[in-house]
This record gives sequence, structure tokens and C-alpha cells, in this order.
Amino acid sequence: MAVCEVCGNDYEMSFEVVAQGARHTFDSFECAIHKMAPVCEHNARQPR
Ligand SMILES: [Zn+2]
Repeated sequence: MAVCEVCGNDYEMSFEVVAQGARHTFDSFECAIHKMAPVCEHNARQPR
């Protein structure tokens, strides 16, 4: 189990996404999209 880093929900079916070498934990794809989409849509804003 892990806590979603977007909404803070402690969910037993949570999953992890690794992006740019960083590991992110989410309870749903909705939260994952909320967290990850800005990185994809506005990639130029993200320092590498
Ligand atoms: Zn969440």
C-alpha cells in the first residue's frame, strides 16, 4: 500500500509511475494524469 501523492489517498491498489528517474505513487489514473500531463503538454517548462 502507498499514499497517492496527488490527493493523499491511502489506497491498497495504488501503483507507481517512473518518469525522468523519479518514482511517483498514485491511487488512480486520474491522479496520475493530473500529475503527469502538465509535464507532457508543457515539456519546455520542465528543466532537464
Ligand atoms: Zn489520488
